[in-house]
Amino acid sequence: MRAPSPLEVSSASSSSPFLFSQPQIPPRLRYAVLGAGFAGLSVAYNLLKQSPKDSNLRIDVFDEVGIGGGASGVSGGLLHPYSPKAKLLWRAAECWDEALRLLNVAEAAVPDAAAIVRRRGILRPALSMKNMMVLEDNAHNGLAGCRIETIDEDAAQNLVPGICSPFNTSFYMPQAVNVHPQRYLEALFLACQTLVKELCASGLGVKELHLHKVSIQKLLELEGEYEAVIVCLGAKADLLPELSGRLPLRTCRGVVAHLQLPDNMGGEYPGFGPSILSDAWLAVQGPRSLYMGSTWEWKSRNSSPNVSADEAAEALKELLPKACRIYPVVRDWTFIGARAGLRAMPPLTPHGSLPLLGCVNNIIGLNQTCKYWLFGGLGSRGLLFHGWLGKLMAQAVLSCNEDLIPYELTSWKRTKQ
Ligand SMILES: Cc1cc2nc3c(=O)[nH]c(=O)nc-3n(C[C@H](O)[C@H](O)[C@H](O)COP(=O)(O)OP(=O)(O)OC[C@H]3O[C@@H](n4cnc5c(N)ncnc54)[C@H](O)[C@@H]3O)c2cc1C
Repeated sequence: MRAPSPLEVSSASSSSPFLFSQPQIPPRLRYAVLGAGFAGLSVAYNLLKQSPKDSNLRIDVFDEVGIGGGASGVSGGLLHPYSPKAKLLWRAAECWDEALRLLNVAEAAVPDAAAIVRRRGILRPALSMKNMMVLEDNAHNGLAGCRIETIDEDAAQNLVPGICSPFNTSFYMPQAVNVHPQRYLEALFLACQTLVKELCASGLGVKELHLHKVSIQKLLELEGEYEAVIVCLGAKADLLPELSGRLPLRTCRGVVAHLQLPDNMGGEYPGFGPSILSDAWLAVQGPRSLYMGSTWEWKSRNSSPNVSADEAAEALKELLPKACRIYPVVRDWTFIGARAGLRAMPPLTPHGSLPLLGCVNNIIGLNQTCKYWLFGGLGSRGLLFHGWLGKLMAQAVLSCNEDLIPYELTSWKRTKQ
């Protein structure tokens, strides 16, 4: 008896008792991830990580600029689980753990891990009496993985010589980190590629990952091509015609200035010195390089990373006095350039400002099983949220089950806009 051809096997009824069983090639699942920032790359990584080992999977990541083309690439890279008033943020432990896990994944993918994450903590001097009392109160309810220590002026000086703590009290988060966002995203993409190779080498299923430098003009362009399309376009999600005006997002442009200590000057930032949070933050990159941020221009629609000379001058005028109040010698550092990004700010909920997740078929007018998804509104805390929420998003997409996402993140869909 001749063996049936693959065509005969696949077209025959599976209940036929007389056919040889041939290994079936599982159909290829295709997913489109729109945007290669914190949100998009976290989803891409988690889709690969959590898809069944024997599945044939193809992920297409679309970004009109490339990796880190939006707010993620220019962000300050400060990562800790507290609000500006030092209150623990919603589900801080899960967010913190998963963010650190993804940082580790990215670091493992490159030879120079030290260039991605600077583990020196973050220092926040109290700026008013009220500020000090609130911070002190919250310092007792910190997260074990990122505790807050209350320190006096001397201890703060030991960490950062020249720092001013107007109320002789600072709050120090020794486990907080500061990330170089662009290098981190590039390393995370590399980690995705490495994972694809490892999964393919197991011989169980074929995995593919493609990055396309393409601008997506409308969601329905992708209709029929994918099992699911996940929109991770940051502040520009609202520009898609199918979503425009339907997302409860406000936009806010922020400028970040790059400062360097001139070669002929001493007073390098100490190698063990933490980054600084205050009305303006200083994200330290090295002994002679730091980023100072950031401005808050509400309602701006300008997502360009380029900053004109006038905009840079305005930003410096606003930021320098705030930074000098806590680190006066920063006045001697030289301005060498500025970049900007557009934040996608979600509404305030009883749990704080939470990103917007969920299936958006009903918003764009489709009634099929889940297909179009949104992962947006990461606000000013994208680094903290991206790891855990990217994982939840991938689980929901793979199983086509929105209920896997905590209701706090999907409740925006039930609120009348
Ligand atoms: C000045 C500033 C400082 C910040 N500092 C911090 C910080 O210190 N810590 C922190 O946690 N967060 C910080 N944030 C917030 C953080 O940057 C955001 O929460 C985060 O970047 C949002 O990530 P995202 O992936 O949702 O969006 P984005 O990073 O904006 O990514 C969206 C991507 O989609 C692409 N895209 C857009 N439209 C299209 C289209 N039509 N077709 C194809 N591709 C498209 C873009 O090129 C971009 O790469 C800061 C933000 C700003 C602006």
